[in-house]
Amino acid sequence: MPDLITITDSKGLVGSCGRNCYEGKELTAICICLGSNHGIGLKAAALNTAINYQRWADRIRDRSHADRAVRVRIHPDILDFVLNPKPSHTDEA
Ligand SMILES: [Zn+2]
Repeated sequence: MPDLITITDSKGLVGSCGRNCYEGKELTAICICLGSNHGIGLKAAALNTAINYQRWADRIRDRSHADRAVRVRIHPDILDFVLNPKPSHTDEA
């Protein structure tokens, strides 16, 4: 899965959070989760992002100049991943 969340403005990428973060590799300077997704794995990071993305986006909006509208893009699979998690085992006998 590519980035869980990407925030852009008219000048391009403002921040994102993705695999390097939730798989616990390196924190990038543009990671917008402030480390809250760091190393917690895709499932927990997807849930964390679904809960917190509005707050993260608001923080960036507060930082941005008024003439630089930010656009938040959440990975389309996150809601499905959070609402319909695949079972870790099957009930088939
Ligand atoms: Zn992150």
